[in-house]
Amino acid sequence: MQPVAMNMIANAVKKDRVAHAYLFEGRKGTGKKAAALFFAKMLFCTDLREGFLPCGRCLQCRRIDSGNHPDLLIIEADGASIKTEQIALLREEFAKKAVESDRKMYIIENAEKMTASASNRLLKFLEEPPAKTTAILITENVHQILPTVRSRCQHIPFRSRTKSGLISLLIERGIPEEKAPLFAQLTNDAEEALKLSRDEWFLQGKGIVIKLYEILNSKSLADALLFVEQEWLPHFKEREQMDLGLTLLLYIYRDALFIRLGRTGSLVFPGQLEKWKHYAVRKSEKRLAAEIQEIIEAKKRLQSNANGALLMEWLIRKLREGSVIV
Ligand SMILES: [Zn+2]
Repeated sequence: MQPVAMNMIANAVKKDRVAHAYLFEGRKGTGKKAAALFFAKMLFCTDLREGFLPCGRCLQCRRIDSGNHPDLLIIEADGASIKTEQIALLREEFAKKAVESDRKMYIIENAEKMTASASNRLLKFLEEPPAKTTAILITENVHQILPTVRSRCQHIPFRSRTKSGLISLLIERGIPEEKAPLFAQLTNDAEEALKLSRDEWFLQGKGIVIKLYEILNSKSLADALLFVEQEWLPHFKEREQMDLGLTLLLYIYRDALFIRLGRTGSLVFPGQLEKWKHYAVRKSEKRLAAEIQEIIEAKKRLQSNANGALLMEWLIRKLREGSVIV
């Protein structure tokens, strides 16, 4: 949980000073929706612990967990936008008396997707809120929210996790210690990282990239080119897939440079340290830095529509030039 956000919410509940409207703002994966639902439980739970912690067991808590609490409305974009009719419906619903309790709450996800007229409609609602109503607007792009709407809400910032914080969380959630840094490097979103860790295509691709690095360091140029043709290209077919493959290769070469420099504390592939040490020490720091630049260059060329097969051949030749095979 986000400490700053949770403190603000908990204090409001404890002091019975819950605002009419909140704006939860922060990047993807920072737990805004989970916090909004937790907040809902704080308000609806009939058996709060220490005056603010929901019990998780009462009927109200269970209804929120299962997504069917009659006094909690969640609005999501209908297609690309949140439309006026959705807000109109919300106002209608809120004109009615609460069913299960004496209060109501609504959550608007991706609030920046409200059309201009939906925003204006919501604004009127925010200006004359019904009693005991709490609104939570959730957004990744606070600047796309109408300033007049913004100013009606209490802002609650959600910060991205630090990389080491995310690594610890992933380990807690069952990802092996030596594998967690890679997922934390690829995304800041814990759920996305967990999804990746179970993605067969990704795991196979990772194996191919590691294999390529080892071939580049232990076999001939012809072997490396053949491997690219037979394994790499059939796997990384689309441009975005190829870009991910190159990103992984980039992480490997960066690890190699860190190993060369003796800075092994924050490797992306710590599990390969012993094996890759032998490769890394054969190259100068300057050479490794140049190879990293070549992979970055390849990623750029890929974005400007270079042919994938030709690009890989070019890159392999570049990377192979500096390899000393023993
Ligand atoms: Zn409860």
